[in-house]
Formats: sequence, structure tokens, C-alpha cells
Amino acid sequence: MRMFIAGELSDSSSGQTTEIRNPATGDLVDTIPKATVEDMRRAIDAAQNAFAEWAALPAVERAALMFKAAQTLREHVPEIAELLTREQGKTLLESRIETQRLADNLDFFAGLHGALRGQHVEIAKPKAYGMVIRRPLGVVGAIVPWNFPLTLMANKICPALVVGNTVVVKPASTAPLAIARCVELINAVGFPAGVLNVVTGPGAVVGEELIANPLVRKIGFTGETETGKHVMAQASKELKHVTLELGGSDPMIVCDDANLDEAVKAAGVGRFFNCGQACLAIKRLYLFEEIADQFIAGLKQNAEQRWRVGNGLDKDTRMGPLHTAGQREEVEKMVQEVLDRGAHVVSGAKRPEGEQFERGNFYLPTLLTNVPEDAVIATEECFGPALPIFRVEGLDEAIEKANNSKYGLGSSIWTTDIKTAHIAAERLEAGYTWVNSLQIAVDELPFGGTKQSGFGKEHGTEVLDYYTEQKSVMVGAV
Ligand code: NDP
Repeated sequence: MRMFIAGELSDSSSGQTTEIRNPATGDLVDTIPKATVEDMRRAIDAAQNAFAEWAALPAVERAALMFKAAQTLREHVPEIAELLTREQGKTLLESRIETQRLADNLDFFAGLHGALRGQHVEIAKPKAYGMVIRRPLGVVGAIVPWNFPLTLMANKICPALVVGNTVVVKPASTAPLAIARCVELINAVGFPAGVLNVVTGPGAVVGEELIANPLVRKIGFTGETETGKHVMAQASKELKHVTLELGGSDPMIVCDDANLDEAVKAAGVGRFFNCGQACLAIKRLYLFEEIADQFIAGLKQNAEQRWRVGNGLDKDTRMGPLHTAGQREEVEKMVQEVLDRGAHVVSGAKRPEGEQFERGNFYLPTLLTNVPEDAVIATEECFGPALPIFRVEGLDEAIEKANNSKYGLGSSIWTTDIKTAHIAAERLEAGYTWVNSLQIAVDELPFGGTKQSGFGKEHGTEVLDYYTEQKSVMVGAV
């Protein structure tokens, strides 16, 4: 696979490449160029050169290209999904959903090409009128992690492109292939050279250049909180706009009046989808005492029967391996800490056994009770399929414990009482609260965290505010 810079497939100027290995088998999937600072500068220059013309195109023409790109991607879903599974580890079903979401996202934002609104203001003294108009920013850097490469790229490039920005994408070093292929396919429908580029290489080298280069006006970043703080500090040197979508430790609260069957299913999907490697995964579960035993028994059954572990390419697999060996070790360390402190294993808490699991980073869906509240698995982000479960006496205690986190990304509550739902929506410290609903981010609603989960919004019409800037125009009465 190759990068895409200035309208062409490209290798690294150093000639170096990085091997991408399958997390389920350790086999080589492909190689990708290991770009240099020079390559990144070439991409940024290309994006800068393309900006004026792209921004001047009528929005409807930019949108037409995006609609066309969505159509092309849909025709390639099987190919891209397989590539994504082989490089990332997720199941084919998860990869298909993700590829389709990229196409849907292109359509959604192309459909918003007429949605940018300005203002008209009457001015008394001196007699005049004012307008507030919106302009694109220029070159945008999109830095993407490995857990949902296509979705998280889509969240940035789609709003950026439709309003007239040009983009340089920097994927994660371990999951660049599907992104590179999609950027190539998107460009093939006729985007002008330089409008959408992808540069693959280490964050510490090409990522740093993207953040530091004065031609780049905005960084859309998704990744770990600590990396996000560094990105913000570096970007501040050139006073760049930043959107930071960072880590989370989402709480789910289940009240005694909830529909337990639906809530059990949602907890299973919430924790085990994508092998638990989701910013929006449910990472702490708070159960009202009255329903706790019944709920835990249901969730144990769900974890053991539904979430069959295996190679993501096998059609029976419901949960693939963790993306890297290091990622699995981190989860194992968090689980071991609570086991040493007396936690009870409801399910899992170990690697699956058998020859087919020996070469991959597999781990069983894991449920734990009697977990100390100050354990790392509860206070930090657990980015894998292990869920600590806590019992609570009522709503006040549940909300207080849910809020007792440095993170504030998502949250959910299951109840049939509308008043309880409203109290939770008001009081939960998070960028999103789902009521009786799977924790899924939809295109229509703005998404983004609070506290150490970051700031700025993706999705919704609101995201357009983060890829444009306002300008005031005053017109005198001559
Ligand atoms: P990282 O922060 O390690 O990496 C994210 C991206 O940043 C990668 O492309 C990485 O490149 C790049 N990067 C790393 N260091 C630098 C640097 N110094 N300068 C510029 N870029 C750099 O996160 P992970 O890939 O481990 O992703 C998992 C994290 O993402 C989790 O914490 C998760 O919660 C969060 N996340 C947040 C979401 C949200 O919307 N809030 C959604 C999904 C995930 P390289 O790979 O080359 O190091």
C-alpha cells in the first residue's frame, strides 16, 4: 500500500516502509511507507496550494464529489472490510459497518452543503448593516487512532471538505492500510490534486510536523488524553484551532425499573464491540441493588454465549483479538490488580485456550464484581473487554459514582421513569447521555467530551462551527 500526496500514490522519500501485521495471527498483511518530515511538508504544501481553488468551488460541486466518493466506497465494501479486519483485528461485520459509515458520513455531510448559515445585523450608529459570514480555515490536519480508523477519519474529513478546507490525514502507525486505500478511492472520483492527502509514519515524526507546520490551521485529533494534551501544547505555539476527542470511562446505570433484557444486550455490545477498544465503550457498570443479581446472571450468559472469540475473518467470530500485544498486557495488568485485591471473576479474566489462539492477542470477555473503586480499571480508561460491576443503593449514589471520574465522554441510563431519565441527563458529567439506548454516536447529534475527554464537537451540524471561522462584515450606507 502507498500514501497519497498531491494527487498521486507516493512512497516515502527515505524508501523506508513499516510492516503491518495481523493481530489474530501475527502474519504480514502489507507494508506501508514510513514517511519523513519532508514527505509531510510536501503533503501540507499540496493541501495549501489546493485550498484557494477548492474553497472557491460552489459547495454543491464539492458535495457532488463527496456523493460520488460515497458511492465508490460502497462498491468496495467487501475489499476494504477485509483489509481493515486483517490489519486491525476486528470482525468482518464490524469492519463492514465501519466502511459503510465512512460512505454514510460522506453522504451526510455532502447533504449539508447548504446548511452553513450567516447573520444579518442592523447597525444604528453609524447607519450601516452588518453580516456575519463563515469561511473555511485552510489546511486541516486529521490525526486518527487505530481503533476505528475509518470512522474517526470520516468524522474529520467529511465536515472539513464540504465547507472548503483541504486535509492531510495522519493515520495510526499500526492501522494505516484501510485509510490509505479509502483515500485513494475517494480521490479517484475526481477531487483536485492536494485536496485530500494521507501521510503514513510515526506520530513522533510526521505527526509532530503536521502540528508544528505554520501552514496547517487546525488539528482534529482523536487519541489518548496524554497525547491530546501534548498536541494542544504544540498547536498553541502557532495558535491553531484544535478539536480533541480523547479517552473515556463511560458509566452505565441500570435502575430497578429498567427493561433488563434490553439493558443486558446493550451492556454486552457496549463493552465487547470492537473487543472493548472504543472510546464510547461502557467501562463502568452501576446496578441498583434490587436487580443486580439478575442482571449479572444475564450479562454472564450474554458474554459467554454471544461474544465468541476468534479470528475476525471467521464468520462465527463475534469478538476479535486486541489490536496489539501491548494493549492486551495493559488490560491484563488492570485485571490482575483487582484480582489481587479480592475482586470476583464472573466471567473470563484470562486468555482463551487452544492452538488457534496462540499467535494472536486474544482475551476472553471479562466481568468482575467486588472491584475496589480506586482500582486502575475504574479510574483510568480500560481499553479492552473487561468490565468492573458495582452495586448502588439508588440514583443519587449511582450518579455520584458515575461522575467520580476525570473523564466525561459518554454515559447511559436505563429506566422506565421519565423523571429519573431527566435527572440523569441533567446531572451526568459527560458530553452525551443515552437513555434506554445503545451507546452509539449518530451523525445527527453533536459528539464530544468534557473534562479530560477533550473538547470540540464532531457530528451534527454543530461540527461545521469547528471547521470554519466567523467573519464580521460591516456595510456602510453610502
Ligand atoms: P494515541 O494517542 O497513541 O495515538 C493517536 C494518534 O496520534 C495516532 O495516529 C498516533 O500516531 C498519533 N500521535 C502519537 N503521538 C503523536 C505526536 N507526538 N504528535 C502527533 N501525533 C501523534 O492513541 P491510540 O492510537 O492509542 O488510540 C486510542 C485512544 O484513542 C484511546 O484513549 C481512546 O479512548 C481514544 N479515542 C477517543 C475517541 C473520542 O472520540 N473521544 C474515539 C476513539 C478513540 P502513531 O500511531 O504513529 O503513534
